[in-house]
Amino acid sequence: SDPTPVTVIGLGPMGQAMARAYLDRGHPTTVFNRTPSRADALVAEGAKRAETAAGALDASPVIVLSLTHYQAMYDLLGPGVDLLAGKTLVNLSSDTPSASARAAAWAADHGATFITGGVMVNPPLVGKEGAYVFYSGPSEAVERHRSTLEVLGRVDYRGDAPELAQVWYQAMLDLFMTILASTSHAAALVGSAGVPAKDFFPYAEELIGQMPYFMQGMADEISSRSYPDQGGNTAMMAAGMEHITDATVEAGLDPGLPAAVRDLYRRAIAVGRGAESSTVLYEMIVDPAA
Ligand code: NDP
Repeated sequence: SDPTPVTVIGLGPMGQAMARAYLDRGHPTTVFNRTPSRADALVAEGAKRAETAAGALDASPVIVLSLTHYQAMYDLLGPGVDLLAGKTLVNLSSDTPSASARAAAWAADHGATFITGGVMVNPPLVGKEGAYVFYSGPSEAVERHRSTLEVLGRVDYRGDAPELAQVWYQAMLDLFMTILASTSHAAALVGSAGVPAKDFFPYAEELIGQMPYFMQGMADEISSRSYPDQGGNTAMMAAGMEHITDATVEAGLDPGLPAAVRDLYRRAIAVGRGAESSTVLYEMIVDPAA
């Protein structure tokens, strides 16, 4: 069957890459952006320009949104809610899980189907090998539009609840961004002794490559909420985190990152869990009052 017509609303780097992927795969593609000039290049490549948000909704059964936050969707579509009936909104913008849940209810109130998405690659990789997108919402809608969604990357469907794709996206970015930040922190720490970053990075890469080994068993520990000492217990690790934080302060660097981890260790020690494995920090995270 012919490719489904798609409207892409929001033409930042991500929305532009998405519109281009749809054009490449032969989908009739309509584009709309608050700042109209960001559509110019895509129109030259064959996209149709919607002059208004209403026109953008009217043009296609599937409306892909790629905006800074969910408020931008309400700002753009709020005035034209009467045109939402029968549409499938696929919102690939970042926001909180609760924002996704509220948006699904809002769409349903106006007769639209809402699919939440979280794109797991940067714009140059959209639609390319290895790209994937978390989705959640009605499985029937995801199945009906599967071939259209697959243009952006592999469809990784996480379940019915609208917030699921968002919380998966947040969790993956949480991991990604804290690793990037701690890499910068560690480079600054060793740099405070005059070590060039280029000498440090091969060691950083090796350690990060070994993380699957260190993560073995963590899923079982967290699932069973039991944290047997595996030869590197929390008390030992806590002492190390105190030293890293002190070293950071001595070097005149921002101590926020190691101090946050140190504080989790301090709490674990304070509640008498020093003899357990360091995965016990999970308990401190899920119970901030512990
Ligand atoms: P931005 O987050 O900068 O998105 C910009 C788009 O949002 C523009 O179209 C902008 O319009 C629009 N916008 C913002 N506020 C409003 C508003 N109040 N009303 C109307 N339109 C508004 O850039 P990206 O394209 O990079 O990201 C889009 C989404 O994709 C974000 O949620 C981001 O987190 C997510 N994402 C991005 C990745 C990346 O690597 N870039 C990777 C994975 C996900 P205007 O042009 O008029 O300013």
